[in-house]
Amino acid sequence: MTKIIAIANQKGGVGKTTTSVNLGACLATLGKRVLLVDIDPQGNTTSGVGINKADVVYCIYDVIINDVHPKDAIVDSAIENLKIIPATIQLAGAEIELVPTISREVRLKKSLHLVKHMFDYILIDCPPSLGILTINSLTAADSVIIPIQCEYYALEGLSQLLNTVRLVQKHLNTNLQIEGVLLTMFDARTNLGIQVIEEVKKYFQQKVYQTIIPRNVRLSEAPSHGQSIITYDPRSKGAEVYLELAKEVISYE
Ligand code: ADP
Ligand code: MG
Repeated sequence: MTKIIAIANQKGGVGKTTTSVNLGACLATLGKRVLLVDIDPQGNTTSGVGINKADVVYCIYDVIINDVHPKDAIVDSAIENLKIIPATIQLAGAEIELVPTISREVRLKKSLHLVKHMFDYILIDCPPSLGILTINSLTAADSVIIPIQCEYYALEGLSQLLNTVRLVQKHLNTNLQIEGVLLTMFDARTNLGIQVIEEVKKYFQQKVYQTIIPRNVRLSEAPSHGQSIITYDPRSKGAEVYLELAKEVISYE
């Protein structure tokens, strides 16, 4: 059974893209067939797996707006079993262009349905907003992973996100579940991080992943080399924890 997971939080800089790329790479390393779907106009997941945006023929924009077959937009990454539908800045117009179109919320769902059978996991990297692209992602997904940065105001904005999840469950996708809440960029040297963990666990309880992603400089360096942590520095702490997370995700299959 294929699992489609949206990685969402309307806050920017919480680790959505880092998690999409590295969880995807680790699941692929563990033998799963993985498709990354970059639906953020910034295209950081696309460049993060080494795709040069200038070379992209069809991106996710063409798939959801121009009805290009998703198969024609899928490209290989450097990692076996890890493929991607890229995003380019063209996607920035989609929020507006989708407004007057028919079935605008279900376009991604319909497209992914055509290629779903080819993969074990499809991970959708959402943009930092709760607009129509994130709605499309939540509508297409079986579940959502919410990354939360271990910092002040960690829970701020989460009620809006959860409200959006509830609205999608009510009107567009009754099966949508919360796959897990992932604590990111934890700094063991501060008390703040520990307080945030306690607060988030109180709120989400057993939905919080056991695996906590620490701050790791190798994780922040890898994207500028167009690589996931698995190829950039397989012996780093970052590689170790994302592999742990991948195993935890698989354990909930
Ligand atoms: P988002 O996609 O939610 O905007 P990113 O994944 O792009 O967030 O992360 C924001 C920034 O923080 C990026 O520069 C990224 O390299 C860095 N970063 C993310 N996770 C970590 C981590 N665990 N350790 C160090 N830097 C990180
Ligand atoms: Mg991002």
